[in-house]
Amino acid sequence: MSAYKLTLDQARAALAKLMEKYTVIAPVMNDNRLDYAEVTDARDVILDDRLPYKSPKETVFPRVENVIRFLEGRVEEAQDIKPILLIGAKPCDIAALNDLDGIFTSDKGKFKDSFYINRRNCLTVVGAGCTSKKTACFCDERGIDMTFSPECDGFLNFVDGDILYEPLTAKGDGLFTGSEAEPPKRDTKPEETLKIEAKEADVFATMPWESYVEGCIGCGTCTYLCPTCHCFNLRDAEDKGIVTRTRVWDSCMYPKFTLHASGHNPRTEKYQRFRQRVLHKYLYIPENYGFTACSGCGRCIRSCPGGLNIRDTVSDIMERLEEAKE
Ligand code: SF4
Ligand code: SF4
Repeated sequence: MSAYKLTLDQARAALAKLMEKYTVIAPVMNDNRLDYAEVTDARDVILDDRLPYKSPKETVFPRVENVIRFLEGRVEEAQDIKPILLIGAKPCDIAALNDLDGIFTSDKGKFKDSFYINRRNCLTVVGAGCTSKKTACFCDERGIDMTFSPECDGFLNFVDGDILYEPLTAKGDGLFTGSEAEPPKRDTKPEETLKIEAKEADVFATMPWESYVEGCIGCGTCTYLCPTCHCFNLRDAEDKGIVTRTRVWDSCMYPKFTLHASGHNPRTEKYQRFRQRVLHKYLYIPENYGFTACSGCGRCIRSCPGGLNIRDTVSDIMERLEEAKE
């Protein structure tokens, strides 16, 4: 497929047209912060190098979502889904979306999540490259090319003040057009260097988990901002004889996340909760699905009030594992 060169104003005009067909989610300013959010005016869309504060995972995994309704004598699905066009997703966020696809839809998982699949099937993703690495980003160490992702429907790059759009799938074809141009030359993908290659027994009880977690106040911000965190709870509420089941985000960093009905809680200590968060992404998901569920977006590091740093934690674990081999 050809690439197309267009100005930011032309891209916004195309977006205004696309808003007739799709709910468009794109980077816009929201309370003085750049966020992926629903676009109401194409002129508000900001396409540049910045990484939005929150991840775009709500497009496929909303924070609160009605999933099932129980009516007298029957049950019906309660999702309200429209075609969504996600514009300007950075390569780290596209990688994270692929991780969620693997967890919720792959044959390797025990369950396929139909609510996730329903939303995913209605989503078109147009990525946008980064031109600089931001504070706390470590996508390169996670093997992600910040300038490009082939795992989306189309991709935008910023070249000399203009935009270069490359359609990558049939869904992405025709979303933006302009004068035909050559696609940019690609750097080779960086090597994935930050990963844990060990057995659970090598890291579970032997690493200084309490020292990694000292500043944690259990706020859950890291999990809410993380593009790959996907723990959820199901709640039922009755109104006028109709019971609606709602899926809501949860967080393994909350003290009561693992509280059993019996009163027993296997993770009463915050180091146990942080250990679970790190090992889930870097050991258990790799074992179960074959990939590490961290894109190196740095959101959990930039926003943690306690100064916790998953990149440095994993790096320290890797060093200790190497020392143990010597
Ligand atoms: S690690 Fe940081 S962001 Fe996460 S729960 Fe603890 S204090 Fe909050
Ligand atoms: S850097 Fe933090 S927020 Fe980003 S994907 Fe990894 S664990 Fe999640």
